[in-house]
Amino acid sequence: MNRELSRRTLLATGMLAAAAAYLPRMAFAAEKTDVVVIGAGLAGLNAALLLAENGCRVTVLEAGRRIGGRVFTSTEIEGSPEHGASQIGRSYARVLDRCEALGVKLAQGSNIYDNYAISLDGQLIRPGQWENHPLNKTVGAERGVVPFALGSYYLAKTYPWNTMDGWASPEALANYDVSEADYLRRVGASSAAIDLVARGYGDGDLDAISALTLMQEMGRAKFEGKGVPTSAKQDRFQQASFLSYRILGGSSRLTDAMADALKGAVLTGKQVTAIDMTETGATVTCGDGSSYKADYVISALPFTALRKVAVTPALTGGQADAVKLMPYSGQNQVWLRVKAPYWEQDGIEGSMWTDGPVSMLRQSIAPDGSRDSAVAITSGVKGDALDRIPAKERGEYVLSELARMRPSTKGKLEVLGVFSWKLDPLIHGCRHGYHPGQMKAFRPTMAQPHARMHFAGEHTRLMEVGMESAMETGERAALEILDRI
Ligand SMILES: Cc1cc2nc3c(=O)[nH]c(=O)nc-3n(C[C@H](O)[C@H](O)[C@H](O)COP(=O)(O)OP(=O)(O)OC[C@H]3O[C@@H](n4cnc5c(N)ncnc54)[C@H](O)[C@@H]3O)c2cc1C
Repeated sequence: MNRELSRRTLLATGMLAAAAAYLPRMAFAAEKTDVVVIGAGLAGLNAALLLAENGCRVTVLEAGRRIGGRVFTSTEIEGSPEHGASQIGRSYARVLDRCEALGVKLAQGSNIYDNYAISLDGQLIRPGQWENHPLNKTVGAERGVVPFALGSYYLAKTYPWNTMDGWASPEALANYDVSEADYLRRVGASSAAIDLVARGYGDGDLDAISALTLMQEMGRAKFEGKGVPTSAKQDRFQQASFLSYRILGGSSRLTDAMADALKGAVLTGKQVTAIDMTETGATVTCGDGSSYKADYVISALPFTALRKVAVTPALTGGQADAVKLMPYSGQNQVWLRVKAPYWEQDGIEGSMWTDGPVSMLRQSIAPDGSRDSAVAITSGVKGDALDRIPAKERGEYVLSELARMRPSTKGKLEVLGVFSWKLDPLIHGCRHGYHPGQMKAFRPTMAQPHARMHFAGEHTRLMEVGMESAMETGERAALEILDRI
């Protein structure tokens, strides 16, 4: 085993300059390797690359035929839209370094910074009219904040810590792991403001999500956002997009390049069904009957997937509960061609937030300024309701709802394709979350090594969000194993 890169060196160099120099050794299916990594998303791929660069023999088992998990540039839908990650923040050091080391080219992020119109109670409102609109029942400073930015407005204003990981302290877990509705009441939001935030999510969601998990993201955005103009007219995703990057040719270029750099170590079509561990090693079994032996295992699976894998010895306590119970929200996407500029007909912003069955109509403005595609995005319980409509009918249903809320879109939009993360048969969701009280119950143990098994994946993040958090967790799991060898 080559341990030329010590843990300290890895951390100090940001790891990636050395990427090209340390070529992984090939692992053959039947051969015992040092580490089996399960899941070829960003977390699993980053863990595998770091281990390989440090001289370990690795095998990566991926259930799907496609590499990348929630990094997914569509090959089916015209225009190759991103079903998953697209925006790369300026502070994503690991992602940016990997892109550079692997020759993956970046461009300025797509522009979703434009304002959103508001469709509320059947009325179409320009964001500039909101403050004094009769439907605006919020009070004081809230009045100047558009409905879709209200949740972020309160979280940013009241974020109580000076550090990015303040949310992970025992004090935070004890006091802030309450529902977002309770938190908003605690910090003085009016009932009208809370109602508007809830209407964006769909009934019930606001009571079901821990405010602390939102504060983790807000903390990161606050530190990342230093120096970036922010406005009460944008939500945090719009703010983050202001100075972000995207990958030329699509985000999947990065995960494909990471898999290529592993030189045959990534095996697709390998759905893991069991992990058996003894004092001396682990055997990982796949649905096709094949099995792989290693000294250590990294599960880089979302807990929605891991809960279907038989683990021996079994997980216990808060860790077992986390795997079994952690909620994942979905995201329903209907991709649209814009046949004519409907916004010119009604003179209102092309993008739109709604309190109806579709969460938002988002227009991406291409780098050349063109606006010929859009996506209707629906999350939370509203997204779950759309998922129940058969895929063939879903697009037309969304078009009819958009036309009802915004007549100018009638006949000007055409469905290019639909996609739902909840219905993805391997991942079963878009992102992890916590119900109130679950962060306190799960966080202390859920990512702790169990026998010969280590945990990665965005749900085990500490300091980062999005793609960078997946990379962060892969790095942590790899370093844990390097420390044990
Ligand atoms: C709609 C959407 C938009 C997003 N936008 C952004 C953005 O703009 N910027 C940003 O930074 N982040 C964004 N993200 C977040 C980012 O995509 C994720 O944080 C990251 O890709 C998660 O990586 P992961 O490795 O943790 O998990 P995953 O990518 O989910 O990887 C898990 C892998 O495990 C595989 N698997 C499942 N079950 C098994 C099994 N039994 N055996 C073997 N393999 C299995 C899956 O097929 C998958 O490949 C977005 C995510 C979504 C869904």
